[in-house]
Amino acid sequence: MLKINNLHASVNDKAILKGINLEVKPGEVHAIMGPNGSGKSTLASVIAGKEEYEVTEGSISLENEIIDELAAEERAHKGVFLSFQYPVEIPGVSVTNFIKTAINETRKSKGLEDMPANEMLKMIREKAELLEIDRKFLSRSLNEGFSGGEKKRNEIFQMAMLEPKLAILDETDSGLDIDALRIVANGVNKLKSKDNSVIVITHYQRLLDYIVPDFVHVLHNGRIVKTGGKELAHELEEKGYDWIKESVNA
Ligand code: ADP
Ligand code: MG
Ligand code: MG
Repeated sequence: MLKINNLHASVNDKAILKGINLEVKPGEVHAIMGPNGSGKSTLASVIAGKEEYEVTEGSISLENEIIDELAAEERAHKGVFLSFQYPVEIPGVSVTNFIKTAINETRKSKGLEDMPANEMLKMIREKAELLEIDRKFLSRSLNEGFSGGEKKRNEIFQMAMLEPKLAILDETDSGLDIDALRIVANGVNKLKSKDNSVIVITHYQRLLDYIVPDFVHVLHNGRIVKTGGKELAHELEEKGYDWIKESVNA
């Protein structure tokens, strides 16, 4: 699905990622953990193709196609989803209308006609039901006055509708409350399949009590310095990150 080879990337001429190697296969869930400032969000942004990040060495491929040169929108059309990619408030545009447009744009990029309205409606109903999303929520203006939990619900709904091949959830370091964590975790667990892959980025272990990863990687100073199974997340919870930093510097 995703193959990252010796990836170096910088922002404003500052080198942040310093040789990342990572392979994510279909059906796998990978967690990326690491101290603040280690480059987790940068890695997510570089995979998604945010413009301000420059790849200076190495490559990123999705389903054996190198995507380094593609714009963020083109990567999205190919099935890369990054949480918080659309955090804008759009008064007058509902949660539903926003996602309809996004889906039809994706179809257009593949030379397809708009999804028939009845098919779209059916899909919206099914996904909303799966995620236990209230009808009223779907007609609200996008992100306008949304609580933390509602923002997460909208994000997971977008993910459900877009059916990405690769979903990257950057939970940032700001405290998500336990409800928001559950919304994200339930959504991911319901949506994951043998054909798609998920990368969960988190500073804390607690999200991984709900989303059980197949692999855990620790990022430090722009490099993956340790990889393990889900038990590594528990070890980090107990011991913090210092022992990893020390073992790297030794
Ligand atoms: P993490 O998500 O692991 O906390 P980030 O990827 O956000 O780490 O940041 C890694 C490093 O890159 C930090 O030192 C941060 O200050 C720097 N950085 C990230 N984005 C920018 C930017 N747009 N301009 C300058 N420095 C940045
Ligand atoms: Mg940070
Ligand atoms: Mg971050």
